Amino acid sequence: MSKPKIIIAGGGLAGSLMAVYMAKRGCEVHVYERRPDMRREDISAGKSINLALSTRGIRALERAGLKDAVLANAIPMKGRMMHDEQGNLSYQPYGKEGQHINSVSRGGLNQHLLELADENPDVHLYFNQKCLDVDLDKGEATFEDESGAENTVSADWIIGGDGAFSAVRIRMMKTGRFDYSQDYLDHGYKELTITPTADGEFALDPNCLHIWPRGEYMLIALPNPDKTFTCTLFFPFEGENSFDTLTEAEDVIKFFNTHFADAVPLMPTLVEDFFENPTGSLVTVRCYPWVRGKAALIGDACHAVVPFYGQGMNCAFEDCVVLDECLDEFLPDWDKAMDEYQKRRKTNADAIADLALQNFIEMRDLVGDADFLKQKEVEHELCERYPQLFKSQYEMTTFTNMPYREALEHGAENTRLVKKIIENGWDSRMEDEEFMTNILKNE
Ligand SMILES: Cc1cc2nc3c(=O)[nH]c(=O)nc-3n(C[C@H](O)[C@H](O)[C@H](O)COP(=O)(O)OP(=O)(O)OC[C@H]3O[C@@H](n4cnc5c(N)ncnc54)[C@H](O)[C@@H]3O)c2cc1C
Repeated sequence: MSKPKIIIAGGGLAGSLMAVYMAKRGCEVHVYERRPDMRREDISAGKSINLALSTRGIRALERAGLKDAVLANAIPMKGRMMHDEQGNLSYQPYGKEGQHINSVSRGGLNQHLLELADENPDVHLYFNQKCLDVDLDKGEATFEDESGAENTVSADWIIGGDGAFSAVRIRMMKTGRFDYSQDYLDHGYKELTITPTADGEFALDPNCLHIWPRGEYMLIALPNPDKTFTCTLFFPFEGENSFDTLTEAEDVIKFFNTHFADAVPLMPTLVEDFFENPTGSLVTVRCYPWVRGKAALIGDACHAVVPFYGQGMNCAFEDCVVLDECLDEFLPDWDKAMDEYQKRRKTNADAIADLALQNFIEMRDLVGDADFLKQKEVEHELCERYPQLFKSQYEMTTFTNMPYREALEHGAENTRLVKKIIENGWDSRMEDEEFMTNILKNE
């Protein structure tokens, strides 16, 4: 019997992981990536220099045999470090002792995945190949190379891992009864750099994700192995303080000195970075179905989310795991496996999109708010003292593989419970095990 032939459009994070899984199960895999081969050419890693990898993503990498290699180069971030306007710091652990998220290099991770895919003789990688269109019923895809030459190839299945502006999805959108929505935030983002100290050390605690919450805007920083931090400024496109109005070097310096004064001395390339680095936009994409004819979507192609929960890639990797599990369960019935995959994932992708939007508000407005900090403190105590009875929404989303939909729903219930505990002054009885157990069990 000939091997099932799979075309994957997009050799990004999800596309290259899916190639590894498909080849492992004996398929012949052809990956077409629009950009040059990042293992050989020095190109921008894409949307962000680094990103936060957590439990769901780690499980997906483990399935590919790549967990240890990736974590060896990751920097653990154990909590959020908030910087207020006066430069005062406050710290909130993300979870219990031993729980942390991981700062990883996007380019490094993508290269690892491409390398692993390439090791399998059944994987064929093609670069500088842009997917122009697909024929969903015939299972054909047309790619254009650098010279403008077009090439149409066919397969048993086409997987669209070609990101938020997916060409595969655009073809699906032109078919009947295809739901689609795209919502941009009024905010964009810009990457900036905190350099190492004069003696070559990290300028801030490297085991935290640093946040400068300022209401309408926010700066965050994640550590890199070269002792720099990549900062991301989330900032309105328009309005009084916005990308539109900060047009001169003096404006940028004045603005940063007013709002992020403690970060300015650590950012000697602030002005160059601000004017030279691109401004990215932030979009939520929802669509359904994810499978049409002989094509299926994975990752941002079917559910781009805003980056405030640090879950977009983790969710994209989880898509690959669930699709692989469905293939395990239902092959040789590919249609059934693909249909089951989209049904299992859609509600969870919608849930993480909602959670990510909620976290935008939480990060920019609330992390500096006294009531919110109290809530987090009580939540943390409950997680530590009563781990069998209580998990916070953040813990369920980030440190478990529980479906995102359940994390959203149970998390909301638990947040209501924490508020009730505080309102009734019960947090003073946190050590009264019988009392707290009754409350947690009866809620
Ligand atoms: C600022 C920012 C910070 C983020 N931080 C985090 C984080 O901390 N943690 C987290 O989990 N997620 C994070 N994310 C989300 C994460 O980046 C995405 O969810 C993830 O990259 C999705 O992977 P993907 O493979 O589906 O898409 P992509 O990574 O976008 O890959 C798509 C690939 O397809 C290629 N391609 C595009 N069009 C075509 C075409 N027509 N033909 C052929 N190839 C094509 C692209 O070149 C690319 O290689 C962040 C996103 C942003 C914007």
